[in-house]
Amino acid sequence: MGLVVQKFGGTSVGSVERILNVAACVREEKERGNNVVVVVSAMGKSTDQLVRLAREISEEPSKREMDMLLSTGEQVTIALLSMALQQQGLEAVSFTGWQAGIVTEPVHGNARIAKINTEAVKAQLSTGKVVIVAGFQGITEEGEITTLGRGGSDTTAVALAAALKADKCDIYTDVTGVFTTDPRYVKDARKLLSVSYDEMLELANLGAGVLHPRAVEFAKNYKVQLVVRSSMEKEEGTVIEEEATMEQNLVVRGVAFEDEITRVTVLGLTNSLTSLSTIFTTLAQNHLNVDIIIQSTTESGSANLSFSIHTNDLMETVKVLEENKAELGYEQLDAENKLAKVSIVGSGMISNPGVAAKMFKVLAENDIQIKMVSTSEIKVSVVVEEKNMLKAVEALHEAFELGQQQ
Ligand code: ASP
Ligand code: MG
Repeated sequence: MGLVVQKFGGTSVGSVERILNVAACVREEKERGNNVVVVVSAMGKSTDQLVRLAREISEEPSKREMDMLLSTGEQVTIALLSMALQQQGLEAVSFTGWQAGIVTEPVHGNARIAKINTEAVKAQLSTGKVVIVAGFQGITEEGEITTLGRGGSDTTAVALAAALKADKCDIYTDVTGVFTTDPRYVKDARKLLSVSYDEMLELANLGAGVLHPRAVEFAKNYKVQLVVRSSMEKEEGTVIEEEATMEQNLVVRGVAFEDEITRVTVLGLTNSLTSLSTIFTTLAQNHLNVDIIIQSTTESGSANLSFSIHTNDLMETVKVLEENKAELGYEQLDAENKLAKVSIVGSGMISNPGVAAKMFKVLAENDIQIKMVSTSEIKVSVVVEEKNMLKAVEALHEAFELGQQQ
């Protein structure tokens, strides 16, 4: 008998009808002779709704109470799904994160899983019950409820699959798999049969919303085979594994994109050696996430520095830089809004030179100005004006032959 972890996202459990559909999916897996652990998200957009309620009371609610509030969303779903399974004659039991032994570090709002005590889940599985676990939540050693960051139910599922040594982890969602780019914006986007952990990690980090990046990290570290598939349509999904099968020898496997990016420029840094480290240490201490960084030296010997951030972080970033102006020693600050990041990702880049060159050529041919560039072994990202984002995505998707009509 095998063990399968199934995860169902918010849309898949968005109504009673959908929960019944999920119950059928669970039953099918059980009838195949497998033990099943199910991880669920909160119903539909209910987490957003809870966030809104909190904001009506306070602009900056306490992080502890936010976790207390947000963790209730998943608790609704586990109970309803368990009832649905029992109604269909299956033995099932629901567990909150802490009942399932999910221990996290003591951080509210974005905690990492530290360990999982699997005894309670295993004991229930051994009696043949389906165990339904609330995603996105855990408990600290001190007994405080924590959440894993938005989209964190994926991570619960993969971490449980790793801890229980499950045979596979199926992530059921509202799309049929991982696509070459977002099919909501690019009609020609094609579903991929397989993607490697590294490629998926890049794609998830670069804005492809289909999987929580930390879930992919877990899957890679513990070699959990993941399948992303639809809970509504019975279609083969996308397998995420160590070595993805090369489809049509593609060098680039996907195009990811993200809007709401701002470029901050710090001009006239006099002592660039120390000020660079001071600037980024100060920003990090204030939990401000910096992405692409570019530094150039001027003729006078001072340096100019540009970096990209999420637009939401702009006010805070400017505040921190201005407060520390004397210590940082710069002349002027500048910010450019309404930018976007477009990235191409593919393991094939390692052995195929000229991919970045081709990307720049395609963008130039489409009159798209590049503001910043960053690369890794398997990705090239460019920052462009937001108004050019989709044009860039479409042009690259076509130039790298990712579409259906090839
Ligand atoms: N319910 C949480 C969220 O909306 C966690 C999840 O769905 O994965 O972010
Ligand atoms: Mg999700």
